[in-house]
Amino acid sequence: MIKIAVLPGDGIGQEIVQEAVKVLRVLPLSFDMQEAPVGGTAYDLTGHPLPQSTIDLAQNSQAILFGAVGDWKYDTLDRPLRPEQAILGLRKHFGLFANFRPAICYPELVGASSLKPEIVSGLDILIIRELTGDIYFGQPRGKRIASDGHFPGSEEAFDTMRYSVPEIERIAHVAFQAAQKRSKRVTSVDKSNVLETFQLWRDVLTCVGKSYPEVSLDHMYVDNAAMQLVKEPKKFDVVVTGNMFGDILSDEASMLTGSIGMLPSASLNKDNFGLYEPSHGSAPDIAGKGIANPLATILSAAMMLRFSLNQAQAASLVEKAVQHVLSNGLRTADIYSEGTQKVSTSEMGDAVAKALKTLV
Ligand code: NAD
Repeated sequence: MIKIAVLPGDGIGQEIVQEAVKVLRVLPLSFDMQEAPVGGTAYDLTGHPLPQSTIDLAQNSQAILFGAVGDWKYDTLDRPLRPEQAILGLRKHFGLFANFRPAICYPELVGASSLKPEIVSGLDILIIRELTGDIYFGQPRGKRIASDGHFPGSEEAFDTMRYSVPEIERIAHVAFQAAQKRSKRVTSVDKSNVLETFQLWRDVLTCVGKSYPEVSLDHMYVDNAAMQLVKEPKKFDVVVTGNMFGDILSDEASMLTGSIGMLPSASLNKDNFGLYEPSHGSAPDIAGKGIANPLATILSAAMMLRFSLNQAQAASLVEKAVQHVLSNGLRTADIYSEGTQKVSTSEMGDAVAKALKTLV
């Protein structure tokens, strides 16, 4: 029995996770999938975005299938109670330091990208983002404001950017090992011309790279990487970077593939325990309308089968089923173009499940 903690979260989370669960149920595998609240949904129910009972469920499972968290209605809460703290809390609790974000442009979606077809056609890059360090977790951090709520000039806010050598070393090894299975090229993205943290990053990457002589390593400043990603994205293969730069660059890369609704992700710890979620957020603007694209979540479930559950064959079948549905011309609104058939979130899930049934 494969135990999975299912955490749908907020906004479109419930709608898209439901479709991934539907697809997993088609596989000839025995799943015990239990659901728990997280994010704003959990805050409304329990007063905390990451209740202990949700952590316990995840702890007793082999993997986490996650939807998304967040809604603007929680923006006035104290930061530790905001929905987004749940995902940061899970990353920290389980030591999920390695975030894999593949950006693949499916041939059928070449026209859905905002870039010219010749720039994105055949694109297949892997962004590896460090997930538990950097400015998102660095201490001290704080905000000093005047008690009357005005900002006359002396107030300040600050966050601390920080990485240690072991933190950089372990993500570097992940990147070089991933590159060994691909085209043996790593681009490390940093800002070492300005930031000490990223001078250390560059030095450590260079040093770890010496243990992987068959993998070529080049370094690129983040501002240049942001530009090159839209100018000539196919020159990248494996991109490794810190938490904040990776957050931004992977969203940029998502648009190369046509829609952020297509981009899966895996966040792994040293034991390959992982949290699997789409790269996008809870999309409150389209929640409840039945139009969200569930493919990023379904593809995240495929990554879960491959990375944490040792079911590589089942993972490939799910990916094939997705490709089959796209070849048949089915599209949710975000990837729709003339001549294709517009379907709802659940119709897309049904179609993938049906295609998978013919493959298993
Ligand atoms: P978002 O990713 O939720 O949405 C950005 C845009 O993409 C929106 O127009 C949305 O409609 C569209 N979109 C996203 N997913 C889609 C899908 N599956 N199908 C079709 N269209 C899709 O980002 P945002 O609007 O900046 O943030 C909304 C909330 O999500 C915020 O509260 C934010 O903090 C949160 N968030 C959560 C996570 C997470 O749970 N890991 C990640 C990013 C943002």
